[in-house]
Amino acid sequence: MTTYWLERAWTPAGTVDGLRVDVEGGVFTKVEPGEPGEARRLAGLTIPGLADCHSHAFHRALRGRTQRERGTFWTWREQMYDVAARLTPDLYHELARASYREMVSVGITSVGEFHYLHHQPDGTPYSDANEMGQALVEAAREAGLRLALLDTCYLAAGIGRAPEGVQVRFSDGTAEAWAERVRDLGGHDRPPGGVRIGAAIHSVRAVPRDELKAVVAWADDHQAPLHVHLSEQVAENEACVAAYGTTPTGVLDEAGALGPRTSAVHATHLTDRDVALLGASRTNACFCPTTERDLGDGIGPSRRLHDAGAPVTLGSDSHAVVDLFEEMRAVELDERLASRSRGHWPADELLRAATHLGHRSLGFDGVGRIAVGAAADLVTLDTASVRTAGTGADECTAVFAASGADVVSVLRDGLEVTQDRAEVGAELDRVVRRIWEGR
Ligand SMILES: [Zn+2]
Repeated sequence: MTTYWLERAWTPAGTVDGLRVDVEGGVFTKVEPGEPGEARRLAGLTIPGLADCHSHAFHRALRGRTQRERGTFWTWREQMYDVAARLTPDLYHELARASYREMVSVGITSVGEFHYLHHQPDGTPYSDANEMGQALVEAAREAGLRLALLDTCYLAAGIGRAPEGVQVRFSDGTAEAWAERVRDLGGHDRPPGGVRIGAAIHSVRAVPRDELKAVVAWADDHQAPLHVHLSEQVAENEACVAAYGTTPTGVLDEAGALGPRTSAVHATHLTDRDVALLGASRTNACFCPTTERDLGDGIGPSRRLHDAGAPVTLGSDSHAVVDLFEEMRAVELDERLASRSRGHWPADELLRAATHLGHRSLGFDGVGRIAVGAAADLVTLDTASVRTAGTGADECTAVFAASGADVVSVLRDGLEVTQDRAEVGAELDRVVRRIWEGR
């Protein structure tokens, strides 16, 4: 057993001073106010581990590059496909490990990896058809990150269009073949510690309507998380309505895809009926504000979704930015811009979105709270940095002042996983160079 003393801590009861926590077997066995004594001291403000619910690890290679020229969502996608075409299982593993280490360095302890880079460049499966997925499992293990591997079904370039170019790497041909491959992934009934296998539907563009049910059935059979990109672009909605006579949310609803194990990623351009369907079904709405900003997607109705019953969670998606502190405040600040009024999201609610609601949406119940029985994930922030000094060292510090650079200590399941940021930077630099320069 290890005992920690938290100088300040954000708990389900609010921010408190002087908390002693006992950790045994990776979970909190005792949480109560007290003096430090012999306990290991964590000075500053400690919060639970953060959950990054939407990641494409390989997009990290695009940061600072897709922004160099003017472009659109679709030109960004061309550059993203360029990286996707270059990745071997080895490079994928190295890039994911460096990206995951970056996440841990800023206090992220669980990631939802939306993984669709399944096959060889010509579409032929690797001799182990899950070699690319296994590369991610290994990368997360090495980085000390808890992983929900959301194996993604991706079958079409658009509604009624076969996969094109690099997309042949993404496709299993049919949803049935997808399910067959996923069956063998990581021995999903008993995956290694800290790994959960979940499912994803890339989007209603990429999975035909009559194939959706097979993915939904797999997720139901395994009581697994099911994630889906939803209404990120107006063009996606228009194509869907033209083909199917209803919105992407409507199509998912008809396929039985909505519910508390499901996360709708982006949920940007929604009708009133879409918001009502997502809320009534308790579907999670995973917002990725820094990516949505970078791609010019628009601002989704976060507060309306929350009020309708859809828990809001957060993801860094394209990794233009990996900083859940920035994502948290962006949810509120974007609402302000859209509504020209302030005060939509209290800091407490944004912290819940970034912590236990997020972990829960990845299938990690009992993670993301400093409370007895919860996984011992602790992230400590420096409250005397140039960003955080004088801000009160409470939940508002975490949400409205801090950045990932203020994270000084990270524990996951009671294990020390704090990263050396200089080392992580060097590792990122090496692998991104290898991808673009081939050396
Ligand atoms: Zn995405």
